[in-house]
Amino acid sequence: MTTHLTAPAGGFTGLPLHDSANSPSSRPGGQGPAAQVVCRRGKRIGFLYRVDQALPVRAMTPGRAAALDRAMAARQTCPVCRTRYDHCLPLKTIGSCLPCADLTDTERDQLAALTTAV
Ligand SMILES: [Zn+2]
Repeated sequence: MTTHLTAPAGGFTGLPLHDSANSPSSRPGGQGPAAQVVCRRGKRIGFLYRVDQALPVRAMTPGRAAALDRAMAARQTCPVCRTRYDHCLPLKTIGSCLPCADLTDTERDQLAALTTAV
């Protein structure tokens, strides 16, 4: 595998660069990428940002925490048995948790009727 680091026109300035995906304590703050890492023959690109222009991550508020919990609940709750797991479910491919995926269509309909009737 070959990884390429691409510099902007004019070259690197010598400033340390920031990978936002691996640095959760800061964010780019609206600045454009200063450089990019290209690998897998151009199929994957990671942007690097200047550390001196990065901003600290916004503080978590109760509203943001509640919104994040709702989003995670949507990804972790089985639509058939309504069980919430501590991991994300394969909803796009299987459409339910793994135990519900093994049910027949009749059993799945009966279980869905039971869990939504409450
Ligand atoms: Zn389920």
